[in-house]
Parts: sequence; C-alpha cells; structure tokens
Amino acid sequence: MDRHNFLNLALGLILNTNLNHKNMLYVADENRYSQMQYHKCGKWGLKLPLISLGLWHNFGRVDVFENGRAICRHAFDLGITHFDLANNYGPPPGSAEENFGKIMQLDLAPYRDELIISSKAGYQMWPGPYGEWGSRKSMLSSLNQSLKRMNLDYVDIFYSHRPDPNTPLEETMMALDQAVRQGKALYVGISNYSAPMAAKAAQILKELGTPCLIHQPKYSMFERWVESGLLNTLEIEGIGCIPFSPLAQGLLTDKYLNGIPEGSRASKSWGFLKPEQVDPAIEKVKKLNDVAQQRGQTLAQMALVWLLKDRRITSVLVGASSVAQLDDNVGALKNMEFSKAELQQIELVLSGESFDPLKLKVREISEVKAIGGETPSRAEFIQNLAKKFER
Ligand code: NDP
Repeated sequence: MDRHNFLNLALGLILNTNLNHKNMLYVADENRYSQMQYHKCGKWGLKLPLISLGLWHNFGRVDVFENGRAICRHAFDLGITHFDLANNYGPPPGSAEENFGKIMQLDLAPYRDELIISSKAGYQMWPGPYGEWGSRKSMLSSLNQSLKRMNLDYVDIFYSHRPDPNTPLEETMMALDQAVRQGKALYVGISNYSAPMAAKAAQILKELGTPCLIHQPKYSMFERWVESGLLNTLEIEGIGCIPFSPLAQGLLTDKYLNGIPEGSRASKSWGFLKPEQVDPAIEKVKKLNDVAQQRGQTLAQMALVWLLKDRRITSVLVGASSVAQLDDNVGALKNMEFSKAELQQIELVLSGESFDPLKLKVREISEVKAIGGETPSRAEFIQNLAKKFER
C-alpha cells in the first residue's frame, strides 16, 4: 500500500468505524502534480492538464454514483484538474451536475481553488422558448441553474454550447460577458462553432472586454473537420482548443474489437454511440490497434497523443466509465513522440488505403521527388521492387 492510500485508510479508521470507502474522508494524493503536464490555453495564462475529464456519460442518475465519485477522485489524484459539464448532461438532464455537486461537497470542496470546472448552455434543457439556444435569457437562467445544481458560487469556464442561428451572435456573446461581470464565471468559451463563426465570436468578445479563452470542438482520428480552418483561426486569435470525444466515444479503443461488450456505451439505450456506428469502423480500428501495439501503447493512448502532438491542442477531453480507463488514458503521456513512418501508417489507415510497407516507401519517394529532392538509390530499388509486386 502506498503512502497516500495508507493515509486515507488511517484517516478513515480515526474518523469512521465503518471502513466502507463511501464514508471515508478523501485526502488528495500529495504527488498529484508530479506526473501530469499542463498547457496554456492559447495565449492566455490559464493552464489545463493535457488530459481533462468530461461528465457527459457515466455520471447521470442512471449510473452508479460511487463509480462516478471514484473516477473524479482518482482523476484529481492523477493531476486532472479540469472537469467539464453542461446543463443537460445526465440522463436525466441536469443529473450529472447534481452528482458532481455531491462529489464536490463530499470530496473536492477543499480543493476548489485547484479545480477548473466548466459548464455550458445551448441545448434543450427545459420546456418553452427559453429552455435552449443562445438568448441572454436562456444562457443566464441556465447558468444560475447549473450553479445551484453543482452547489458552486462560480464556474471557471462558461460556454455557449452551440451557435444559435436565430439569435444575433452579439446577444449570445453579451450573455457570456455578463456571466463574467456578474462573477458567475471566470472565463468564457464556445463549442461547436465553425471557423468563421468562431472568428466573429472572438471579435465581439474582444470588443466586450471578455476575451474568448477556449473552443471545444469534436475532434478525433475519425472526425477531422477542425483541420480545415478552425485550428488556424484559433491559433491566430490566441484561443485554446479542447477536443471532445477524442476517442470517438470509445470506438478508438480496443473495446469493440470483438463485438459490443455489455455495459459499453454502444450497448446502453441512452448512450450516444449507436450500435450501427460500430461495425463500419472496426476494420480501421483493428489496423490502428496494430500500429498502437507496435508503439507499445493501447489504441486509446495512441489516439490521445495523436491529437496532442499538435501544440494548438490545449488538452483532450476524455470520458471514462472506470478508474482503470482513466489510468490507461493518462498513461498515454509516457509516449508522445511519433516517427514519420508511424504518422504515415496512421494516415494510410484513416484514408482507407490498404497498408503495405512497400507502398508506404513508394509514397515517400514520390513525395521526395515532388519537392525536387534527392532520391536515395536504396529507395529507388525498393520502389522498383514494389512496382514489380503491384503488377
Ligand atoms: P471519449 O471519446 O473519450 O469517449 C469516452 C468513452 O470511451 C468512455 O465512456 C468509455 O466508454 C471509452 N473509454 C475511455 N477510455 C477508454 C480506455 N482507455 N479503454 C477503453 N475504453 C475507453 O469522450 P466522450 O464522448 O465521453 O466525450 C468526452 C467529454 O467531451 C464529455 O464528457 C463532455 O464533457 C465533452 N463533450 C462535449 C460536447 C460538446 O458539444 N461540447 C459533446 C460531447 C462531449 P464506455 O462507457 O463504453 O466504457
């Protein structure tokens, strides 16, 4: 038993005759900042851990509270200081914030100044015309509700969860600015905004005096829209980027290699990953899993560091249904380097081309030729050999 577990056990013994971990006082691991790395959010001073934890799934009223609680405690012990929520996370909507509020009360409240807690408004939350989208009324009422559910005075980051086509962008951004001026949020962010919309939002926020800290887009090996414009915009504006669903909701792990396991997200009626999304991805997943194994990593680990290799990515926002998954994901940081060949292998798999080391070599040579470089004679030899095989 390590020192941290021993201390937790001893405290439990002193304070509680019932040794059930549910009732034991939580003391955070004193080494929690020794492993994790932290990146600045764009040009701003706020740093986020390279891996952050999202509470979209696994923290609702339908889930086992003690499991979610153990995941949050363990996350903080690993140096994960950032917990991401939204008004509608559950199910039912709101229950993830309620549960997180309980975890704060039971375990994390003494560490409030070490935590970055975010919430969002924009998706359907309550009935009537103010229960969703981006009007000032909707955004600020939602934030008040979130603070109540989480039993917090303020959130660290308040997001517009999605752009609202029927509300002027100015109104939504003014609501974010007002949240900060009211002391109910320290920073603001946007999520699911296209590159042009993000640039416009950033401009309005700058003029209001509450700059945009961060953008939260969907980004993974399987979903790469941010590469054609958004990442450049964020870099120019000095805005951080925290991709959500970096594991494609669990597809980019070894979980579904042999079908849909019981208890997995795709097996649950309320899970956002649908069983019909699994099969079409599996051929690529198997090949990516081979590449990860060659690197001595799990596929989940490789998928995370593949995103983090781009310095414009501040943090990756993972979900987890167990403490073991979190350990696996944080373990990714032990190997963050990719060789050129590995990156090419991954691109080939993602493009759907069949993987063949000789073909890879041929591609490399044609790239060298295209930029007018010297072609090494050994490479020429391999190219000719590959051509022979192709006939
Ligand atoms: P991921 O892509 O990381 O998927 C998480 C799921 O993958 C887990 O629930 C688990 O599935 C599986 N998993 C995680 N780690 C491992 C591992 N090491 N080995 C095997 N399986 C693993 O992210 P999410 O889709 O959960 O999204 C993350 C967060 O992003 C959300 O919680 C939320 O905070 C945010 N988000 C924001 C959105 C927005 O519009 N702004 C939209 C969606 C998410 P299983 O449960 O099957 O075990």
